[in-house]
Amino acid sequence: MTTINDYLKMSDSELKNISDDTISQMSYGIKYFDFGAAGIKATKRDWQIMEYLRNRLQAIEIKPTAKTGIRAFIECDCGHAVPRKLVMNASLGTSCPDCYDRMSC
Ligand SMILES: [Zn+2]
Repeated sequence: MTTINDYLKMSDSELKNISDDTISQMSYGIKYFDFGAAGIKATKRDWQIMEYLRNRLQAIEIKPTAKTGIRAFIECDCGHAVPRKLVMNASLGTSCPDCYDRMSC
């Protein structure tokens, strides 16, 4: 399986060839990838690639999915959009996994 680390090694033309499906499958990693946590000393190029991936993901998220006609991403009460299956119910409303603690009082 392709990981963020693999993307960071790709050239611009390879990045352009990544399909929308692949981007949305990787959405969680793309959104929450943390160079520090992954033990990577990020270069300017690394940041540019992450920004490119995040922009692609954002463009995909605002489109309804062709197959179901429903949005694959849900905007939670915490303010983040996450894949439907990752939405959690906290006491203050719906939440992404990262905000669950903050949203549970
Ligand atoms: Zn959140």
